[in-house]
Formats: sequence, structure tokens, C-alpha cells
Amino acid sequence: MQTQVAIIGAGPAGLLLGHLLRAEGIECVVLERQTGPYVLSRIRAGVLEQVTVGLMERLGLDARMKAEGLAHDGFHLADGKRLIRIDIAGLTGKQVMVYGQTELTRDLMEATAGRGLEVIHEAADVALHDIESDAPFVTFRKDGAACRLDARLIVGCDGFHGPSRKAIPASAGREYERVYPFGWLGILADVPPCNHELIYANHERGFALASMRSHARSRYYVDVPLAERIEDWPDDRIWDELAIRLGPEAAAHITRGPAIEKSIAPLRSYVFAPMRHGSLMLCGDSAHIVPPTGAKGLNLAASDVHYAAEALVRFFKAKDPDGISGYSDKALARVWKSERFSWSLTRLMHRFPEDGAFERAMQVAELDYIAGSRAAQTSIAENYVGLPV
Ligand SMILES: Cc1cc2nc3c(=O)[nH]c(=O)nc-3n(C[C@H](O)[C@H](O)[C@H](O)COP(=O)(O)OP(=O)(O)OC[C@H]3O[C@@H](n4cnc5c(N)ncnc54)[C@H](O)[C@@H]3O)c2cc1C
Repeated sequence: MQTQVAIIGAGPAGLLLGHLLRAEGIECVVLERQTGPYVLSRIRAGVLEQVTVGLMERLGLDARMKAEGLAHDGFHLADGKRLIRIDIAGLTGKQVMVYGQTELTRDLMEATAGRGLEVIHEAADVALHDIESDAPFVTFRKDGAACRLDARLIVGCDGFHGPSRKAIPASAGREYERVYPFGWLGILADVPPCNHELIYANHERGFALASMRSHARSRYYVDVPLAERIEDWPDDRIWDELAIRLGPEAAAHITRGPAIEKSIAPLRSYVFAPMRHGSLMLCGDSAHIVPPTGAKGLNLAASDVHYAAEALVRFFKAKDPDGISGYSDKALARVWKSERFSWSLTRLMHRFPEDGAFERAMQVAELDYIAGSRAAQTSIAENYVGLPV
């Protein structure tokens, strides 16, 4: 098989990129290890910045998002005593869109056939070859048969554990990493949210987040030590813990219900640089991970895709390679700012086991400063809605 761009991974990054390239008449094939239903069963991000909304609009795939998504004007930080509202619309003139990653992926997936985007699911043993040449190729197995896909460029959209980043020699890049001493235990339930906007809470028992996917579906998290097991958290224990950590105001409005999904996700900050090596470009989680505290993971994948699509269109249509050679610097400039925001919000809103009285006093002082400062709130708001691409 031959194509112009081989895309590895059909998560949001791979599907968005594939659609953007097809819309420009560029040939591409997407290779995905899992089945479509499996990809859709993964419950992940839910807050979309303008960059992600804008790409869906550009593709004309925004109808369901506009009909079912919830446009939010603000969110709250809770410090155990009060709710500090960050008025993102008032401070930045922009909004965020609450729409599940699953739904966005479904919209992209359902449009593939109609738009001629070829996605090969259940592609096993995907391996990248000759990425330092102008004729790289990918090998994989499909239904037991050995297959080969030749391309001019490969884009790795295969998440943190995929083969793309690992194909880059260690000497050609650098890893930056911070692993946090806790994970987020999430519960998804078909109950109305306790508040119409998100609440991020720093309580003496730990962090909590009240979030939602729709008016009828709620997503809540509490942080737990990494050694914790999901079996030790029956639904009632999670609801009890949420009620304590979110505080009495929110707790009064929590509707309990059976979990339709429950999992513990470890938290990590990670960047691999550069994000291009020879004929291989990396997008999304294959190059970087953020803790979910700033709701940046999916949105960073979208901004990478925005830059990658721009570079690839320039390369194939204007025969100009400068976009490809400049891709990594351009993408990383925004990645590092989102990493900083996610790390600082994680630092502010969680109780770290190694922290002493001084670090706790710094959290109290910072939350107090934010509560009384329009400048501090504006800084948080402009990062939360997403920096420009
Ligand atoms: C448990 C969890 C919870 C999260 N919660 C949030 C959140 O609340 N808010 C937020 O902003 N972000 C969250 N994130 C992060 C967000 O979901 C990711 O940043 C986003 O999915 C990145 O999209 P992606 O397309 O780059 O990677 P992915 O969504 O990981 O997609 C990668 C794709 O590549 C495929 N793949 C992997 N290996 C191979 C292979 N060998 N061959 C072929 N295909 C392969 C995978 O099956 C997958 O479909 C969460 C992530 C996780 C894991």
C-alpha cells in the first residue's frame, strides 16, 4: 500500500488530522490497534478549548457538539471555605465547551466513510521503518496477514504507549518528566451534575473535581494514593468522599447513582522533544502528557494537529518543507505553556504527601490571592480557555 501520510493511532489526534488532510485532498491512511467500539469505550477528557471546537467547525462536524455540548462561562476553585468563581467569559470574552472526548471521537469516526478517510482498525504489531529517510514505511499485521504501508511522512498519534515515539533513537531527543504521587479515581454516572459549572476543590482530605458530560451525566474525581485499588472503592464510598471534599454547598446538590464507569488514572507531566525526527512527526499524547487538572490533554492534541496539518498542507501543496522543519518548535512553544499551567494548577489544588506546613501555607496564600485579584483570575482564565494557536 502507498499513501502520502501514514497516521498511526485513531484517537482524537489521528482522526482530526486524517480529516483535515482529506479535506485538503492529501492522501492518508490511519492505522489503529483497537476496534472502533473499544476506542469509543474509553472515558477521558470532556472540556474543549476554542482550538478543538474550531477544528470541528472547520471540518463541518460540529452540529452535534453545538446541539448537545454545554458552553461554559466559568468554573470554580474551592478552598474548603468558599467557592472562587473564575469568570472566564467576563475575563477573556471566550467560553469552553463541555463535550465528552468519546462523543467528539464518535463524530470523527462516523464521518470517515463519507469523507473517504481510510482507517484500518485492529492493525497489530505496527512498526515504523526508515524514519530518517524520505521513504519511510510502516509494517503491521491485519487479520493475520503481513502488510506494508509506504508513505512520504509518518505522523505518530498513537498515545503515550504507542510505537512512534519509541522509534526515535534515544540520542535524538530528550524526555522531561514529573510523576505525581497520586492518581485520579473517576466515576461516571447518569445523574444530573451538582453544579452547572466545574468545581476543582482542595480539601484537607485531598483533591476533588465535580464535572459533567451533559445535563444528565456527571463525571466526578477524587485523588487517591497510587497504591489504591478500584475494588476498594464501592460507589457509596466515592460519593461519601466527594460530599466531604467538595464542601457542603456542592454536597447539598449531589445526586448519587450507580457508576457506569470507574477507574484510577495516574497523573504525570511528560514532554518528549523534539516532536519531529526525520520523516516522523509526533502529535498529542505520543509526545506529551499533562495531568488532567487543567483539562489540557485533548486540547493540546488538537493544537498539535492544527500545526501538523498546516505544515503538511504546505509541504504537499506548496512543495515547501519549512513548515515540517519548524513544526516541533511551533508545537512545543504551546505545549510547554500548557504543561506549566497544568502543573501549577495541580500543585495548587492537591495535597502532596511530601509537603509541610510551609507548602500548605503557600497554597492558602495563593488561593486567597486568586480570590481577591482580577489579574490573577484573568491569568487563570486565559490559560483555561486556551492560549491562541
Ligand atoms: C484515563 C485517562 C483519563 C483522562 N482524562 C482527561 C481529562 O479529564 N481531561 C483531559 O483534558 N484529558 C484527559 N486525558 C487525556 C486525553 O484523553 C488525551 O490527552 C487524549 O486522548 C490525547 O489524544 P491522542 O489522540 O493524542 O491519544 P489517544 O487518545 O491515546 O489515542 C491514541 C490512539 O493510538 C492507538 N494506538 C496505541 N498504540 C498503537 C499501536 N501500537 N498501533 C496502532 N494504534 C495504536 C490507541 O489505541 C489510541 O486509539 C485522560 C487520559 C487518560 C488515559
